[in-house]
Amino acid sequence: MPEQSCPECGAVLFFDSQTKRYACKGCGVYLTKDELVNIRDKLHKETDESRKKRAQHSEYLEWWLSSKK
Ligand SMILES: [Zn+2]
Repeated sequence: MPEQSCPECGAVLFFDSQTKRYACKGCGVYLTKDELVNIRDKLHKETDESRKKRAQHSEYLEWWLSSKK
């Protein structure tokens, strides 16, 4: 299994095989794998910079095309 990094602070998470949870020694989060995936999805949606850039690019393209008329 690859190393997981903390969704909160980015530190390496330690897997606790007894409780099947990931623990962060940086900020103290303690998450199951499902919770980790859910948080990652949420953070990814909130900070999707590439999607924002694409939207700006298409706005620019529309402006450029309309100014050529
Ligand atoms: Zn952390």
